[in-house]
Amino acid sequence: MRGIYIHIPFCRKACRYCDFYFSISLHYLDNFVDALVKEIRLKGEKNGGRNLETLYLGGGTPSLLSAPQLEKILKAIHSYHTFQEKPEWTIECNPDDLDVTTIKKLRQLGFNRLSIGVQSFHERDLEIMRRSHTAEQAEASVRQASSEGFDNITMDLIYGIPGQSSAEWEENIEKALSLPVSHLSAYHLTFEPGTVFDHWRKKGKLLPVPEEESVEQYRILREKLLSAGFDHYELSNFGRKGIVSKHNMLYWSGQSYLGLGPSAHSYDGERRSWNISTLKKYMDRISTGEDIGETEHLTSKELYHDYLITSLRTKWGADPAHIEEVFGPGFRLHFEKQAQAFLEKGSMSVMAGRLVIEPGHWLITDHILRALFMD
Ligand code: SF4
Repeated sequence: MRGIYIHIPFCRKACRYCDFYFSISLHYLDNFVDALVKEIRLKGEKNGGRNLETLYLGGGTPSLLSAPQLEKILKAIHSYHTFQEKPEWTIECNPDDLDVTTIKKLRQLGFNRLSIGVQSFHERDLEIMRRSHTAEQAEASVRQASSEGFDNITMDLIYGIPGQSSAEWEENIEKALSLPVSHLSAYHLTFEPGTVFDHWRKKGKLLPVPEEESVEQYRILREKLLSAGFDHYELSNFGRKGIVSKHNMLYWSGQSYLGLGPSAHSYDGERRSWNISTLKKYMDRISTGEDIGETEHLTSKELYHDYLITSLRTKWGADPAHIEEVFGPGFRLHFEKQAQAFLEKGSMSVMAGRLVIEPGHWLITDHILRALFMD
């Protein structure tokens, strides 16, 4: 394994667009940390990682953990795993958690990368999405983290928010670029089943932005960031001066990783496993020693699909020689045959023998992938 992901399933408020697994009752936070430490021990005894490159605390909102809770988790991790000399340690944070004391503590604990969930610098957007912070807190948190020594800060922004104009989206990007961030993730808002936004959309209370507007906002995003010197290296991700999310690169390049906590996924190159997502069941099963997850062996077809889904989201694309070597000549033949139409249309191209989706066409990645999949 090359990295560890830990899912912290708690949030202060439920954002109206979010379908991640989390609880807004913080009552069980201490019990959860105890269960997580036990999972770290159980899995670490069987499969301790050596020379790991990354640790990523995501959620949920990991920044709402107290310093003693974080210390407990990290102590358990250190008991079973070792890291290379300069690993990437990321923690996802909400701006309202990032006061000076917390930022200092995160640095002392070894985190060297903050992923700050800003989403928008417009109060109207933050209110409609029901974020737990203000635009002012978002800006202050980034500046504060930088002045406390964090030089690898990434920020999440959302575009395609109902009611948000392209001009307002452009202002968001400009504001982000005026702050000391080295990396930026920008996601188009999606209406996930079961979310308040999806319910409102069905009732006609919320209208998705028209497709032309989405395309225009994506165009603005690329134009602004590329001219500011950022590299668009993955569908939703941009880095300054070659900076990438090393942890996410493990996912996109098919490396193995261990996932801990409710709903976390793991991958070992052949098998994918996932933990139960319900917090209560997770804690109960950990305490009784029952299995907390399921595992599936991936078929060649599934592995081929995973390879395309991950590699074609990046600027490095997919390698036909790799497809032949790992999955067989039939897969390569199918891949190259199906890709031909996209090469002719200009939505794909060949770069150093690899086939890539042109970044300007990444918005139709799903459409291209469907054509490249095996039946
Ligand atoms: S803080 Fe993040 S994980 Fe929590 S509800 Fe909002 S978007 Fe979802």
